[in-house]
Amino acid sequence: MRAICVRRTGGPEVLTLEDLPDPIPGEGQVVVRLHAAGVNPVDVYIRSAAQGRNPALPYVPGMDGAGLVEALGPGASGFAVGDRVYLSGTSPAPLNGTYAERALCATAHVHPLPAHLTFAQGAAVNVAYATAYRSLVDRARSQPGETVLVHGGSGGVGVAAIQIARAMGMTVLATAGTERGRALVFEQGAHHAFDHRAPDYLAGILAATGGRGVDVVIEMIANVNLDKDLGLLARHGRVVVVGNRGRVEIDARQTMGRDAAILGMTLMNATAEDRVRIHAALDAGLANGSLRPVVGREFPLAEAAAAHVAVMEAGAYGKVVLIT
Ligand code: NAP
Repeated sequence: MRAICVRRTGGPEVLTLEDLPDPIPGEGQVVVRLHAAGVNPVDVYIRSAAQGRNPALPYVPGMDGAGLVEALGPGASGFAVGDRVYLSGTSPAPLNGTYAERALCATAHVHPLPAHLTFAQGAAVNVAYATAYRSLVDRARSQPGETVLVHGGSGGVGVAAIQIARAMGMTVLATAGTERGRALVFEQGAHHAFDHRAPDYLAGILAATGGRGVDVVIEMIANVNLDKDLGLLARHGRVVVVGNRGRVEIDARQTMGRDAAILGMTLMNATAEDRVRIHAALDAGLANGSLRPVVGREFPLAEAAAAHVAVMEAGAYGKVVLIT
């Protein structure tokens, strides 16, 4: 099968198209013929060795994908050959990622892909939607009727957070750095949109809450925004740090009068039980149409390097996806 292989860490040029053996399903495993693979910023951090948890070399990148069940190993049940599915990861086997024509999965990684969604949309689900759900529900314990600021609403996690928050009955404020991004966040259900590059946008956010502040902030770039977020919180407000790319100075006093909390969140910390619960919620939302993944850019598998450049560019518009 064709797959993208990383044999040394470095820039996008280390993503090379190779011919690798087709996977064979073992006990309880499924082989999925992938038609699309999702690209996430974390794929770039891992490729460039910018974070601690790096896979052994060589490896095939990718945690997100969608396609058709091609083969089931002994004891694998719940799916049939030809079923449309999306993935929430792959089995821990050498050279087994989703930037490939095939992936080897445990059945727990395989979820039904409703007929009204494309494979590219299916490949846009896993990391973005599970991160948004875990941030809003598990960490912030958001409630219907509360107000959330999705600080960075135009990208993969942001779009997912807007849709989930709306489905929960929250009032949603979201930011984007481009006019196209702000149109997108409105389309996805935000009640108010702001330009996070405009000098006066924080005042606009406070005004939109009648001066009360927001209950929850889902923060995509905490090293830029965390101190500003604290000033936007209502009493008992929570900031969930989803993304961070450097150090930040905050005025901790801003948390005191509000009884506010800063909460870290890493999807990698979700347990197997958490993932079952999270994907049960996501699968229901995908089936009933309240969750609608947005694919902004598609690249052929062979152009994975260009996709890695695109996912780090400003002007986000939903997800970047590889067509395999
Ligand atoms: P993405 O698709 O690239 O989106 C990035 C978002 O951040 C865009 O909406 C972008 O808006 C926005 N942004 C850029 N500058 C900003 C600013 N100054 N203030 C507010 N927002 C700003 O990335 P993603 O997949 O949504 O992921 C978002 C972040 O979460 C990344 O850092 C990623 O590594 C991290 N993440 C963490 C976890 C976890 O487990 N903790 C899981 C998934 C992702 P414009 O482009 O319109 O400016």
